[in-house]
Amino acid sequence: MTDSDKNNIQPDKNLPLAGDIEKDNEPMPPEAVGRGKSLKYKNINITNAAYIVAFIVSLPIILIAAGFIWPETKTIPVKGATTADWAENSFWFEPWGSSKTHKGIDIFAKKGTDLLSSVDGFVWKVGNWKKAGKHIFIIGPKWRIHYYAHLDSILVSKQQWVRSGQKIGTVGNSGNAKGKPAHLHYTIKTLYPRPWAATNETHGSRKKYYLDPHIFLTQ
Ligand SMILES: [Zn+2]
Repeated sequence: MTDSDKNNIQPDKNLPLAGDIEKDNEPMPPEAVGRGKSLKYKNINITNAAYIVAFIVSLPIILIAAGFIWPETKTIPVKGATTADWAENSFWFEPWGSSKTHKGIDIFAKKGTDLLSSVDGFVWKVGNWKKAGKHIFIIGPKWRIHYYAHLDSILVSKQQWVRSGQKIGTVGNSGNAKGKPAHLHYTIKTLYPRPWAATNETHGSRKKYYLDPHIFLTQ
């Protein structure tokens, strides 16, 4: 820095002057408290703060809305399958073993057939459970969770984005489907209740969180 540069340095008008800092450290006059004067007194820009707060508060709303705007492009989740490969009335069929009611449909296919994502989505989790066998949960448009079970193989990993129609695994008979014909168990769950979908059937009150995959895939 040259001497001429030093001479050109102007005091920054935005920085508080020594006098202001001293003033800030003074106790607040009692009449300023409770009249909205305190924020001005401390030189905080209330307008910017309000915008930041409004943005943070509206983020979840924007995110939720985005989920509903996201187009729901549908694919039958088993390659080559048609409505002939599952039973139309299989959803909420009872009795259904220890589950009591069948909260999805079973799409039958040869073991090793391509499992396709039925929607664009985000892989929430994958795993292997005793009853479900190898399974995948995908969060898709409208905050619907697409669940695929009894898989032979899983070809995606957690926190991965997938497109509708993308191969995500293969159909199998893992879990409690072992020894039975290979099929995809497919469930669609919603993250929010749809009270109008509740019925008086067994587990009928839970039905507000489930969609009939047959109706979903054919409409
Ligand atoms: Zn099933």
